[in-house]
Amino acid sequence: MLDQFNREIYYLRIAVTDKCNLRCTYCMPKEGITLKSHDEILRFEEILEIVKTAVKLGFYKFRLTGGEPLVRRGIVDLVKMLSSAQGVKTLAMTTNGILLPQYAKDLKSAGLARLNISLDSLKEDRYETITCGGILNEALAGIKAAKDAGFEKIKLNVVLVDRFNDDEKENFKKFANENNLGVRFIKKMNLKSGDFYKVEGGEGGHCAICNRIRLTADGKLRPCLFSDFEVNVRAEKSLEEAIGKVINHKPEKGYKSNNREMYQIGG
Ligand code: SAM
Ligand code: SF4
Repeated sequence: MLDQFNREIYYLRIAVTDKCNLRCTYCMPKEGITLKSHDEILRFEEILEIVKTAVKLGFYKFRLTGGEPLVRRGIVDLVKMLSSAQGVKTLAMTTNGILLPQYAKDLKSAGLARLNISLDSLKEDRYETITCGGILNEALAGIKAAKDAGFEKIKLNVVLVDRFNDDEKENFKKFANENNLGVRFIKKMNLKSGDFYKVEGGEGGHCAICNRIRLTADGKLRPCLFSDFEVNVRAEKSLEEAIGKVINHKPEKGYKSNNREMYQIGG
């Protein structure tokens, strides 16, 4: 479906939870998060209906994100449901990788096509600092598990923070090369101030070619990371109308957002 600026919108990023097993400093508030009640979070059947409707409107690429998608109970079942829906060409996931040793094989069998794994440092102490207690070896074991499970074209998402880890860029390129991984560098963004950048090695942050909308775990469709506009899918007359409204409200360029944090929108 075309938006007002003639951009073809065919990619839906779905946050399946706002819980996470890490606390990256640039993503989750230090003071912790208020958990949504079970009823507020979309059920798998609702997500499937939204995906089927999106397919009718021309969407074919979908990504599961969060929070951490692998902490959502039954995630493999959701992958199976979505990957087998007619018209879903690519189903991908962005994860911090910590739970991949447990899930990678099942995700592959369930039809997950691609994985992006977030990893911001190859130094143990820095990884621990940036994730507020995460263990680098667990993330590395996740990458290995994904490769062993047969995932191809795994991409690393590296958030670069000035004067913290930006000296690791070359090291990441080398690591990616040696392990047959892709790597994308994302400069730390700030929703509230509206600071965002083009992703190096990816298409994100480039408004003129933006092709996506987002769905939060509690059922709000959003046209842009950097906009406060939301449509509650449960409150609209139909899912077609909800998706159409969001596409029509896609701003030409991102501005800023004050009503959500990154972990709620899915990055
Ligand atoms: N928990 C999963 C993970 O970390 O991969 C998925 C959700 S996370 C919100 C999705 C992506 O957003 C991650 O690659 C993360 O690094 C990125 N992200 C989060 N906050 C960010 C920020 N302030 N600036 C740039 N990227 C950010
Ligand atoms: Fe969790 Fe991902 Fe946000 Fe880190 S970036 S706190 S792993 S949701």
